[in-house]
Amino acid sequence: KFGGSSLATPQCIERVVDIIRQHCQLNDLVVVSANGDTTDALFALYQLAIDNSEQFESAIEQLLHGQAQMVESLLNPSSAARLVDYLQSDIEQLKQWLLSAPELHQADVLSYGELWSARLLSAVLSEHVCPSYYVDARDFLVINNDHDCKVVADTSKAQFNQLTQKGKLGIVTGYICKNLEGETCTLGRNGSDYSATIMASLTGALNVTLWTDVDGIYSADPRVVPNARKLHRLPNGVAKELGRLGNPVLHAKTLQPLTDHSTHLHVASSFDYQNSGTEIGKFGQIAKQELSVTYL
Ligand code: ADP
Ligand code: ASP
Ligand code: MG
Repeated sequence: KFGGSSLATPQCIERVVDIIRQHCQLNDLVVVSANGDTTDALFALYQLAIDNSEQFESAIEQLLHGQAQMVESLLNPSSAARLVDYLQSDIEQLKQWLLSAPELHQADVLSYGELWSARLLSAVLSEHVCPSYYVDARDFLVINNDHDCKVVADTSKAQFNQLTQKGKLGIVTGYICKNLEGETCTLGRNGSDYSATIMASLTGALNVTLWTDVDGIYSADPRVVPNARKLHRLPNGVAKELGRLGNPVLHAKTLQPLTDHSTHLHVASSFDYQNSGTEIGKFGQIAKQELSVTYL
């Protein structure tokens, strides 16, 4: 799974493509977040629509422009033109929802971030690396409701199997899914981590790597506490607790789908991918005095 920070600019996406070239095999799955702060921009757009703000038009133009620029700098002209056409019709739909009944469509609006990200990465891979396809998780992933986000595993698994294409690398949208009524839902902020482990449990994956912008999990946020220590090996229980306490590297539900713990979970940096990250697994308590600090 690549987080938004790993997919923020064309240069970041090229790094991600390199990682995929070196680490992936056909039939693996890649889960993606929205590019950079696209989800924040979609939340802001939603708020501008609710407030009937004059800045709505310029914000939507800016969003389209930013996405189109990424597409055009990564793809050959004919593929880029095709994706920009899709983008333009998505923006039309988005506008229509936001100008008519924004409250009814918040999750639909937010879902474009992951959709655009998956569609672009899949096109770049198909052009430069290997056959690839993307899947909108709303076409298979069903949860009970967007409060406790429990996966309806049998339905989700059966629907996903219908969408799998053999011999290609599948790119799956993180963060988004559907509820039992078929409405778009999200898994909450930073929910793509949870999407990644859900995919692992649906497919029986042996390994999940969360590629992010830090080279592992530290004893505190390394951007806030410069002398925080990297935790090379983290026992499942401690990781679960860190997620619960609001550590953004591990969304609170990330460990939930890995109940049998036979899936290896790994956090690494897409900016420094030679550096070993943090392994999360069945490790004993190595340092009893180890203290991790979160905002809560
Ligand atoms: P992504 O875009 O990959 O989902 P996030 O921004 O959601 O990444 O999470 C990564 C960020 O989490 C890091 O940039 C770091 O500042 C912050 N962070 C907070 N607490 C920790 C911690 N204990 N260890 C590592 N990173 C942390
Ligand atoms: N794009 C969503 C967010 O910004 C989900 C994620 O990045 O995990 O929260
Ligand atoms: Mg995140």
